[in-house]
Order: sequence, then C-alpha cells, then structure tokens
Amino acid sequence: MAEKRMLLNDTPEALREYLQTLSQPAYRARQIFGWLHRGVSFSEMTNLPKTLREQLIKTAVDFPLTIEESYQSKRDDTVKFLFRCMDGNIVEGVMMCYRYGYTMCISTQIGCRMGCKFCASTLGGCMRDLTEGEMLCQVILANRHVADRGKIGHVVLMGSGEPLENYDEAVRFLRLVNHPDGLNISMRSLSLSTCGLVPQIDRLADEGMGITLSISLHAPSDEIRAQIMPVAKRYPIGELMDAVRRYVKKTGRRVLIEYALIDRLNSKPEHAAALAGLLGGLQCHVNLIALNPVKESEFKPASQATVLAFVKTLEQRNISVTLRREMGRDISGACGQLRNHYLKENNKTAIIENTIKP
Ligand code: SAH
Repeated sequence: MAEKRMLLNDTPEALREYLQTLSQPAYRARQIFGWLHRGVSFSEMTNLPKTLREQLIKTAVDFPLTIEESYQSKRDDTVKFLFRCMDGNIVEGVMMCYRYGYTMCISTQIGCRMGCKFCASTLGGCMRDLTEGEMLCQVILANRHVADRGKIGHVVLMGSGEPLENYDEAVRFLRLVNHPDGLNISMRSLSLSTCGLVPQIDRLADEGMGITLSISLHAPSDEIRAQIMPVAKRYPIGELMDAVRRYVKKTGRRVLIEYALIDRLNSKPEHAAALAGLLGGLQCHVNLIALNPVKESEFKPASQATVLAFVKTLEQRNISVTLRREMGRDISGACGQLRNHYLKENNKTAIIENTIKP
C-alpha cells in the first residue's frame, strides 16, 4: 500500500496540488489547512462531503503524533507532554504559562547529537530529525489540551534536538506556524535556540523572518565552553559572537543568551565579568538559570548565593539579565529528562531511525 501523506507537512499550495489529484476544488485546501492547524481531525471535518473525508482518511494522515502521556506540575501551570510518533519514537514538549499566555517549547529532533555534557537530550544520541509537520503537531495537540483555558501564543524551538542541524524542516515549521490561514503566530513570538552552528546562523539571518535567536553560550571562554560543549571546538566563541552580531545587524532583533550556572565551572565572579566583557555593546539579554541537575551528569548547579552574585555582577556592568524561574522541576523540567525516564521505566530503548520518512 502506498505510504500515507502527512498533510501537516504541506503548505496550502502543496495541499492544493494534492487535493487536485483527488479531483477537489482549490478552496478545499485552505479550509483543510485551517482546520488541521486548529486541531480538527479528518473525521471531525463534518462540513466536508463524506466521500472526501473517507478519501482523506484512506490516503493521508491528519495528526502524526498522539499524546502518550501528559504531566501537570503541581507547583506551577507547566504541562509536560510525551508524544508518540507514528514510527513509535517518543518526543517531549513542554507548555509553560507566563503572564502573557502560554508558551510551547517543542522538540526538533528525536534525541540530539550535539553532546553537551549537562544535557539529558543527547545521552542516547540522535535517532532522527522531526519533520515540520511533527513539530507543528506538538503545538496543535498542546492547544487542544488547554482547550478553552487559552491558546499558545509563543513557540520556542528549545526542546530536544539542535534545530539548526535540522535546518530546512525547522524553517518550514516556522513559516507554517506563522501562516495567516493557520495558527498565525507572529515571527516575533517565535524563537529558536542553538548551541551555536555558525554557518546556519548566517543562513537564518538571511531568511527575512525576524524570529528571536537564542544562543546557548554557557561559558565566557573557549577553554571552559569546550569542557561542556563539544561544538565549541568546531566554532570558537569569537566566530560565534561575530555571527551573532551579524544576525542582530541584519534582523534588528535582540539576541537571547542562555547561560546555565554550574557549580565552580562557569559561575564565579570572574566568569560573570568575562561574560559582561564578551557581550558589551551587543543588543542582547541574558537568561540565567541554575543548572538543572541531570542524574547521569557530573555537573552540579551553582548555589543560590553564587547565582545571585552572578546576576549582580552582570547588572553592575549594565547587561540586561533575568534569572529564569525553574518551571516544572517536579515533572523533570530539564531537556530530555522525561523521555529518558519514560524509556527506562517502560524498559524500552529508543527506536532507531527507520528508512521511511514519515
Ligand atoms: N540544541 C539547542 C536547543 C535545545 S536545548 C541549544 O543547544 O540551544 C535547550 C536549552 O536548554 C539550551 O540552552 C540548553 O543548553 C539548555 N539545557 C540543557 N540541559 C540543561 C540543564 N540540565 N540545565 C539547564 N539548562 C539546560
């Protein structure tokens, strides 16, 4: 039997072409695109002729993921999801509630191959890339989950995976989630986090999208960075910061700098001073977080006093900074932890990439 087509990967134009092969008029593409993005399944599209619904069910896939499990934090309004892909792989996403509404943090790959030493996502390597439709489906299912309590207004590509390694799919996802006939989330409300792949940062600056770029810096020098992030050996901080400056210049957007404070390694006052020196004159904002401890990792979070002193040093140097609240720690807040727990508890190993792209 021919493989089913995953319609969430389609732009309205691609969908129109596909519907033409089913002898359907062009206006159906727009309708179906809008409904799918709002979480309406084929069988719920009761305004469509029954024959078309049946055709769609037979030849296409509406939602390529299902919610395997969801965990509601008791401490805040965070919900963590484990999604099941059609090939059986598990990915996670987190929905956080801020003053300004819901933000969904999605995964872009199954696992990750970047090897950051403090991160749970990379422990088992990378199984495969997610398609744009699988990324979108995480947002759609989370929206369905909150139902009438609100709607996701911000999306961050900050779950498992390195989005710039899955560049084409990530960019297609950003355009789909921004599409006026779909969820219509503005580019300003979309952000992408990277460990610092320099050529792709330049490519992204040329896309003309104006999304927010987040850089996982975590260290003020190559010497320290290389101890925790293998990518530092490929792209030294000097090259990375040059690319970041080019991004800011081209897009006019302020860049976010992610920095997890680790006991002794990167959290001393001299590290804060070096960071301030590195960021001086750059249009940026620093998001500090105390490292979320991962069982398998040797690194420990910096103490609260150290964290506060770090904040103070940056503020004294006029660097804009916030200390991020840890959200959903009781539900395995750190990237990739929940999926690892799940795979372990259920005595499963991750499913290795199969040859068929869903
Ligand atoms: N690969 C991308 C996006 C995924 S990681 C990137 O590196 O940016 C999302 C963010 O969580 C990154 O800033 C990452 O460095 C951070 N992170 C991962 N594990 C963490 C931990 N245990 N504690 C604090 N932050 C962590």
